[in-house]
Amino acid sequence: MHCALQISQNGSICGNLRDRENFNPVSLLSNLNNSRMQTLSTPVPSAPISSELSTDPAIHRRKTRPVPVGSITIGGSHPVAVQSMINEDTLDIEGSVAAIRRLHEIGCEIVRVTVPSMAHAKAMEEIRDRLHKTYQPVPLVADVHHNGMKIALEVAKYVDNVRINPGLYVFEKPKSDRTEYTSAEFKEIGDKIYETLEPLVVSLRDQNKSMRIGVNHGSLSERMLFTYGDTPEGMVESALEFIRICESLNFYHIELSLKASRVPVMLAANRLMVKRMNELGMDYPLHLGVTEAGDGEYGRIKSTAGIGTLLAEGIGDTIRVSLTEAPEKEIPVCYGILQALGLRRTMVEYVACPSCGRTLFNLEEVLHKVRDATQHLTGLNIAVMGCIVNGPGEMADADYGYVGKQAGLISLYRGRDEIKKVPEADGVEELINLIKGDDRWIDP
Ligand code: SF4
Repeated sequence: MHCALQISQNGSICGNLRDRENFNPVSLLSNLNNSRMQTLSTPVPSAPISSELSTDPAIHRRKTRPVPVGSITIGGSHPVAVQSMINEDTLDIEGSVAAIRRLHEIGCEIVRVTVPSMAHAKAMEEIRDRLHKTYQPVPLVADVHHNGMKIALEVAKYVDNVRINPGLYVFEKPKSDRTEYTSAEFKEIGDKIYETLEPLVVSLRDQNKSMRIGVNHGSLSERMLFTYGDTPEGMVESALEFIRICESLNFYHIELSLKASRVPVMLAANRLMVKRMNELGMDYPLHLGVTEAGDGEYGRIKSTAGIGTLLAEGIGDTIRVSLTEAPEKEIPVCYGILQALGLRRTMVEYVACPSCGRTLFNLEEVLHKVRDATQHLTGLNIAVMGCIVNGPGEMADADYGYVGKQAGLISLYRGRDEIKKVPEADGVEELINLIKGDDRWIDP
């Protein structure tokens, strides 16, 4: 039999994917390669599939220590926290206060601001005070850049957490003619990092605040690049060097991030970080993100691939989706990832079939209508299924179901029980009545 799939002119796949018996992946790939798909130039040999692949549907989060960021706690038994960053110049106090408030009002639990100079650090005092006076305290993180010791020390008075980048905190200007790093040079810079980091660690420790050690694949120090290469190992060792300094000063309010713009690198770095922490008896929470993910659909897919994969493995305590769009656009993506994995419930969970030849109504249109009417009922599971042949069985654990019964008629379900058959035109209204009758309705 021939594969029912077809490759369209633009490389997309058409056909009935459910026709699995006829699905021929070899022919599909060959078709794709013959159209315009590019394969990796360096094929990677496949590893044997682990016999320890988990079949447990529950996500077991890695045990981490709780780390405070203002009124929010990252790690421990706390929900995965959602964060973002404003784009405003921190010197624009009014604009920054408004942007922080906008993000917080839509559910961003921790807001980061950039602090590139001492003037920016001082502006944070006013920003914090205005938030307190005109709105409410918002957990704030300050991002400190190149050689930022004095700036970090100043801003640590006004924010709840300071983020430093080990690759930039003590910036070593790369030498173009360097051929090696001697152990003496390595140690000399290590000593300088200690001296520079110590006052900040002491300040945060004494104020019961926290620090993010945020390593970026694209900004590893020259010293780390020489020693470990441009690798996940280099990222992990960079973080460990700073953690050891913090621990030597009895400071443990640390969260870590290891970000990269390439998802496989980000995944490898975080998994390696967890492995090394397990070996060393460390339990610091992780902040997950894919840097420079871009915008639109692919930016969201890339972020979800990186963040979602690790969360599904139990790794990650706070997330940021970095989009080249207004920061407000990042928050629904964060909540979508967490909801899809069952880690947080912030909206209604909709189950809807993809529709097929058996579908008895315009499924896309009906799903929109059902969603418009019920999306404020956070916590409910609602299914919209095209037919009674497979619909009821595939509604998973939906609380309510809207299922095509026969032409012009739909059936409403409570759980797996069919409750009533109604004309399609009254379907959404009757669904609302059913939910109201169960006392589960709240007015929007
Ligand atoms: Fe088709 Fe029915 Fe399955 Fe929907 S539930 S995809 S209409 S068979």
